[in-house]
Parts: sequence; structure tokens; C-alpha cells
Amino acid sequence: MLVSKLYAPTLREVPAEAEIPSHKLMLRAGYMRKTATGMYTFLPLAQRVLKKIENIIREEMDAADGQEILMPILQPSELWKESGRWDAYGGEMWRIKDRHGHDYCLGPTHEEMITFLAHMDINSYRQLPLNLYQIQDKFRDERRPRFGLMRSREFIMKDAYSFDIDEAGLDKSYEKMYQAYTDIFNRCGLYFRPVEADSGAIGGNGSHEFMVLADSGEAEICYCKDCNYAADTEKAEFKAIETEPEEMKERQKVETPDCKTIEAVCDYLQLPVEKSVKAVAYTSNKGLILCFVRGDHQVNETKVANTAGVPEIDMAPAEMLEAAGTHGGYMGPCGLDPEKVIVICDQSVMKMHNFCCGANEEGCHFINVNPGRDFTPTYVADIRLMQEGDPCPHCGGKISKARGIEVGQIFKLHDKYSASLGATVLDEAGRSIPMQMGCYGIGVGRTMAAAVEQNNDKDGIIWPVEIAPYHVIIVPVNIKDETIREKAFSIYGELQKAGIEVILDDRDERPGVKFKDADLYGFPLRITLGKKTLQNGQLEVRTRKTGETVLLPADDYIARIREMLGGLKK
Ligand code: ATP
Ligand code: MG
Repeated sequence: MLVSKLYAPTLREVPAEAEIPSHKLMLRAGYMRKTATGMYTFLPLAQRVLKKIENIIREEMDAADGQEILMPILQPSELWKESGRWDAYGGEMWRIKDRHGHDYCLGPTHEEMITFLAHMDINSYRQLPLNLYQIQDKFRDERRPRFGLMRSREFIMKDAYSFDIDEAGLDKSYEKMYQAYTDIFNRCGLYFRPVEADSGAIGGNGSHEFMVLADSGEAEICYCKDCNYAADTEKAEFKAIETEPEEMKERQKVETPDCKTIEAVCDYLQLPVEKSVKAVAYTSNKGLILCFVRGDHQVNETKVANTAGVPEIDMAPAEMLEAAGTHGGYMGPCGLDPEKVIVICDQSVMKMHNFCCGANEEGCHFINVNPGRDFTPTYVADIRLMQEGDPCPHCGGKISKARGIEVGQIFKLHDKYSASLGATVLDEAGRSIPMQMGCYGIGVGRTMAAAVEQNNDKDGIIWPVEIAPYHVIIVPVNIKDETIREKAFSIYGELQKAGIEVILDDRDERPGVKFKDADLYGFPLRITLGKKTLQNGQLEVRTRKTGETVLLPADDYIARIREMLGGLKK
């Protein structure tokens, strides 16, 4: 490719909405353009990177016995109604109607479709195990599309689905995908960590997220320095905290004027914060949800939504609290009308005795409240958010936090979809049983963005070799100089013949401009052709990542270039 012909228009200024390096740099370097909120057009350089990531994924999926298929993006609502997700999926699903008024959606994911396929054609244990995957655009009407490719509304996903006869088979398929994902992200040159995404609910090792560590990551990871525990903060699970038994004291209402925070209340009443319960109120499609946790704990909103079985929650407005018979700052679990409000108590609250909480009346709290005697919540669950310094659930060590970008997730589905959609097979004994399924996703665009997030500097992108759009850029200092020009084109031809992906900056521009663009585009190696070095029979080769330059003999450089590229892969 010649830079004079390349469609990669660079920008001086990037739109203010681009907040993180990958978003800014891919706009600035002409890799992509925004079409509308959360929708992007990929220009040639980005398309090359995406294809490379896809090919790495293909190679590793095929090596792990995956077979590539392609399903329609458009999905009939019937399948989603059968699985129960048509209503449960919430506002993220793009729903559309055909001219006859039939409901469809643009696929946010494909469990229903693949299970339907399996139900048609897989009848016997002899056809298992099976792993089918596709690489395709997915659609999600995200509540907050942002950070460019990180959270867009149309995005490329590799989704894979495994089918096994039993749990042991599923464990093996899952393990294979875990390894394949590790290999894929290593080859993409990413620094990542697999974390537990739900530790226990469906069997202890039911799901992992692959997190690329980066400050700009939207996800938060809790990890332990003393053992290998790592979990997505959203999902990190707690055990209930047991407390010493106590005799129940008589409940009393006390005045707590102007004490709107739990700290102020504890201060005023001279109580330890572990003897207090605080509240957070949310609104949802099922109405008001009041959540209660110990005074020094925080509420995990994902767990709350899951417990209540609602797709989304938002902070509840004050009027809503009043209508339900309570008052902001003074909310408590006693005396609430279960018709008007869903009450969720953290499991540890249920183990507390004689605690203090709001009395649902302005300026008043109760003391000596006891669960069971004084209130019964709608749900008891683990709704606590893990925080820095909390005890590690595995070893008791101290939890630290880091930020991450979720580039992939793997999941044991068991018979969740096969049972509801009737995807059964006959086992060896001739019994009809639902298949054991797993599902495995990778965000291709998000992986590209994550690679930029981890590999950039003030001058631009620094592509990991395996996914770089081109390996080498040749920059002739002066294209009008015949000797330089000739040499530039001959090296260009030789590198191409050697199978090295090369781009030649043949523009009649000042060297500074060309160097700047080469750095911004982020190709791993730059060959600079100047009069002096050529006269000495040498080429100057600069490594984008380190800025180091070496001089190579102009008549024998290909093996060295190959070596340098190989060295950058490690
Ligand atoms: P998130 O929690 O970030 O919303 P998710 O858990 O909903 O993601 P999955 O359903 O697990 O996502 O999808 C598989 C992969 O697809 C994710 O790991 C991620 O890499 C990618 N992905 C999901 N949503 C988006 C999006 N809106 N834009 C870009 N990539 C996405
Ligand atoms: Mg996920």
C-alpha cells in the first residue's frame, strides 16, 4: 500500500466526546469515523486490524474443535418468548416489526437461535460434543453508549456455543475455551487476567470474564495479592457475617434530628456503625425497591437488579418514597407495605441483633431492631459490594482493586436454554435428556480498542505485531530524490515478496510530517531512507515501541527485519 492512496484521513482535533486514548487515537489516526451514537464506520487500517483479530480467533477456535457458522442477525420473537427472555431482556434489545406486524429483534446474542438449531438436528449423544461459533455484528441499545468501540450499539462479536451430553463434558468444553481465550488474548499482545464472574451460584466455576487491565476500563476487578482470587466487583460474592447471639431488646423510636447519613446517626446515638443498617432506594419496572445493608457496607446494584428480577434500576425520586410511606434519609425495613415496595435485605443484616435503622419518618430512627420479630423482607440475598480492604473470600487476605476492560466472557449455561427450548438428545441408555450447553463471547472491536488502550504514547498508537495493520512503514526522507525513490520502491517490493506487510509513504511531504503520521498510525517498524545512510549502504530501522534505531546493511536486511518483528511478539 502507498500512503498517497491510503484512505486514512488524520485529524488535528478530536471531538470532545472522545475521552479515552483508544477512542481519541482511532479517530485522530483515521481508523474510524462515527456515524451516529454508538455506531462506527471502520476505515481500511481498522478493517485490517479487525480481520487480524478475527483470524487469530478463528485459528484458535478451530484448533479447539470449533466450527464456524453464520446465523441471521434478525431473530423471531417466538424463540425469545419460549426462553422467557423477550420480556426479561429489557431496554437493550432492539425490537422491530415486519410489514405484517410480527415481532423480531436484532440479535444482542444468539443462545435462542443456536438452541433452536441444535433442537432441529442434534438427536443423539453420538453427535456430541459440538462447538459452533460465528463472527458477526450484534446490536444492543446500550443505555450509555460511550468510549467509542468499548460500548457501542452495533459491534462485532465472536460468539460460540458448546453442546455436551453431561456436566463432565461441559467442564471439558469450558476448559478448552478458557485455554483458547487465553491463547487468543496472548496472541493479540494484551495484558489480561481471567476473573471469576460468578463464583458459586451455578457450581463454583460457572463463568469467567477476560479482563484487559487498563485505567480506562469500565469494569472493576477485586483481587487478592495473597492468593489467586480475582473477581468482577459487580459479581464478587460474600458469605453472610455471623454475629454473637444477643437477647432481643425492646424496640424504641428515637429522635435523630438532621441525621441524614448513617455516620451522623451513629455519631449522634453513640453506636458502632456495625450496629446500624442503612438503606438505598431504587426505582424499577416492578416499582420501588428498598435495599438494606450494614451501615459500613455498600450496595451492589447488579446484585439488586438480579435479586429483584428486573433488567434495570435507577435511584428512586423522593416523591416515590413518600408515596410508599417512607422518607429519604430515614428509611428502614419496619412497617413497610409489601404491596407498595420490594424490600431486599443483605444476608448479613439478617444475622444482626438489636440494630439501629430509619423509622420511615422524618427525624426518627429505631434502635434495638431485630429481623424476624420487627420485619420480614421480600428477599434476603447477598447484595453487598466488595470494597478495597475487605477480606478475601478465599484466603481472608486483603482485597485490592484494579480497573479492567471485559474483552471476553465464557459461561456454563447447563440446560438453561436446552430445557426451555426442547434441545434434547438420546443418551447411551436411550433416555431423552437436555444437552449441557456453554456460551463464549469475545468483543472483536472492544479487543482492538483495548489493544490501543494498553499500547499507546503521546505520539499515537503502538500496535502489537500480530494485529498491526502493516508491519513496516518505509519513509523516504525526500521522495523527489531519484536514488532514494528507486531504493524505496525496491525495498517495498522485496519486503512484499518476503511476506512482510509493508506500506510506503510516497508523499511529497516534509520528513517531519511523515514521521509524525507514521508514529500516529502506529506501525511496529519504520525504515527511514536518507541520502547519507544510503550512501553508506545502510538502512535506518526504528522500533515504534522503544524509539530505538538500528542500521542494517541495505543489501541484506530482510532476515533482520523478520527477527525484529518476531522479537516484538514476545
Ligand atoms: P458489558 O458487561 O461490558 O456490558 P456484557 O457482559 O453484556 O458486557 P457479553 O454478553 O458477555 O457482554 O458479550 C460478550 C462480549 O461482547 C463482551 O465480553 C464484550 O467484549 C463484547 N461487548 C458486549 N457489549 C458490547 C458493546 N456494547 N460494545 C462493544 N462490545 C461489547
Ligand atoms: Mg459479559
